[in-house]
Amino acid sequence: MRGDIAAIAQKSFDCIMCGLCAARCPAEEAQYNIAILARRLYGRYLAPRSAHLEQRVEEIEEGVFNAPIAELMSMDETGLRARYNAREVEK
Ligand code: SF4
Repeated sequence: MRGDIAAIAQKSFDCIMCGLCAARCPAEEAQYNIAILARRLYGRYLAPRSAHLEQRVEEIEEGVFNAPIAELMSMDETGLRARYNAREVEK
């Protein structure tokens, strides 16, 4: 509320969005909506950029995964289960 968007975003995760404060607020402010706004502003303008996420989005836009997805889409349930069970699991 004092311009510290990062602090609002962080503290907002304690809010369960019940709305009781809005019902009692003399300024008629909906605190839960302010919390959501702070999260969105933090995510858009303040959070550090994720280089690996941007790289993955570029790969998706370039169609790197189109063939593997098409292959998965063409498989039946048995094949999908076998592929899932044979996957490499991160440690
Ligand atoms: S909506 Fe308001 S009263 Fe409800 S948890 Fe969030 S801040 Fe508290």
